[in-house]
Amino acid sequence: MPKKPWFSNLKCRECGHLYEKEAIHICEFDFGPLEAAYDYEAIRGTLTRELIESRPQTMWRYRELLPIDGEPTVGTQVGFTPLVKADRLARKLGIKELWIKNDSVNYPTLSFKDRVVSVALSRARELGFEVVACASTGNLANSVAANAANAGLKSYVLIPSNLEQGKVLGSLVYGTNVIGIKGPYDQVNRLCSEIAGQYGWGFVNVNLRPYYAEGSKTMGFEIAEQLGWKLPRHTVACMASGSLLTKIHKAYKEFIDLGIVAKSDFSIHGAQASGCSPISTAFKAGTDIVKPVQNPDTIAKSLAIGTPADGYYAIRSMRETGGSCEDCTDEEIVDGIKLLAEYAGIFAETAGGVTVACAKKLIESGKIPKEEAAVLCITGHGLKTQEAIIGKVGEPRVIGASLREFEDLMRDDSERALGNIFNQAGL
Ligand SMILES: *Cc1c(COP(=O)(O)O)cnc(C)c1O
Ligand SMILES: [Zn+2]
Repeated sequence: MPKKPWFSNLKCRECGHLYEKEAIHICEFDFGPLEAAYDYEAIRGTLTRELIESRPQTMWRYRELLPIDGEPTVGTQVGFTPLVKADRLARKLGIKELWIKNDSVNYPTLSFKDRVVSVALSRARELGFEVVACASTGNLANSVAANAANAGLKSYVLIPSNLEQGKVLGSLVYGTNVIGIKGPYDQVNRLCSEIAGQYGWGFVNVNLRPYYAEGSKTMGFEIAEQLGWKLPRHTVACMASGSLLTKIHKAYKEFIDLGIVAKSDFSIHGAQASGCSPISTAFKAGTDIVKPVQNPDTIAKSLAIGTPADGYYAIRSMRETGGSCEDCTDEEIVDGIKLLAEYAGIFAETAGGVTVACAKKLIESGKIPKEEAAVLCITGHGLKTQEAIIGKVGEPRVIGASLREFEDLMRDDSERALGNIFNQAGL
């Protein structure tokens, strides 16, 4: 198959030095992160709204802006998740217009990580890797395991040993090799860097990171397309390493530069859990020096990265776009999960609770003005982190299979409803 001309090089984010498109991720001159670079002139003549709309509804409809040489071979059905207008939640949060980008129903493993894995494993195959691996807080492991199984690649996933059961089973079921590490994610990640150097495996978020990270752009492309080819005034994304947020920014800029959307003001806001908020803490302190968090302590385990690789760039993206940053407690995370479920009918994992809880604060403080429009990025499904809400959403009322018992229950309900009316009336 002839190679496509769009993806040209890897490029250092700091010094701009160009590299061949190999399994490398750090600049040898200044240790800056490498990212994918494209021949935008070639893309400008090729990629139009009409061409995109003529393609299947997957993340690969933006294929010219993704870093592989041939056609995608892994995760070809990933993406194009619903963008849902959430009017009841908008009223509840006191904002004029609110949208939910719902990656909790991404295919196949119910988180936005299917996007990054689709790109990383398609590229891993082009580079000839036979074993793929990752350091993960759970969702990435699920997606590597599932997509590697479907592609027939051998996989190893390394995770902190204390993850939620849904995340652990959600990797094991695919027959991958799950290795639990006694320690927080940052230790898992450091170990993976050492393994990658010695074993020649394709670690999707270590030596394949420049390819992996670009997959996140498709969330931004889809938001713009689904809004009718325009950028949202405000976008809120939760942050672990900070990569997703920076790539939504890159996606919006690429669409403007290519003339696919009109230039308009947009702000990107970040959300973290207070129990692991290195990026939010630095942002609020007005610095871009991100101080590591040694012992993350939050129910949002998927976001618990104490040394965020892209923290510095995430802060730059938020500042450059006039965005802001918030963090929230475990209690607020549970409230956020319930708000989204009760007012939009969407069951998100703890990371989604973080996004909603922080968006609520940003609206209350006026950092997202009430008369403007916002998109909240919901990144993972609630069935994977059930521990977080057990005992916090009530219990089923159990009765015998008789109409009389059901009628008793209904009578209780109407008496309670009446009582509420009297209470509200102050009687
Ligand atoms: C990985 C992850 C994120 C954030 O990832 P970044 O490292 O910031 O790109 C957000 N939500 C969920 C559910 C995740 O699994
Ligand atoms: Zn460099």
